[in-house]
Amino acid sequence: MFIVDPETLIKVARLDIPKPLIIVINKRGFSKLAKKEIYGIARPEFGIAVIFIKSILECSRSVSQFLLRFAKLIMHELGHLFFLSHCDNIACVMHHHSSIENIDLSGHEFCDKCKVIFSTSSKYSWY
Ligand SMILES: [Zn+2]
Ligand SMILES: [Zn+2]
Repeated sequence: MFIVDPETLIKVARLDIPKPLIIVINKRGFSKLAKKEIYGIARPEFGIAVIFIKSILECSRSVSQFLLRFAKLIMHELGHLFFLSHCDNIACVMHHHSSIENIDLSGHEFCDKCKVIFSTSSKYSWY
């Protein structure tokens, strides 16, 4: 685990070199900056996503419940990093996570449609 400042991350992301995917885990949450709860943002063109875990940390009743929610958030943002959009299928992990209840309702895997997009995407040639 590395602790880096956001400016450095942005500089690295803008370098025109092959780079790893970076998922930043932010414990502070994003709700004060946005009018609604946001659990993650992704910039696939830079290969960077941020996951905000304050809400699921505070609202989970057990470690296993937290870990399941956390895993769904990671899978969701990873999908965005591979250029997947939100999916209408509630059973798909790419369903829009607009609330904790919504995260709980969504599945933890890509649906068949999203799996095809994920596996056939040629947009990750920079990877
Ligand atoms: Zn999303
Ligand atoms: Zn889907």
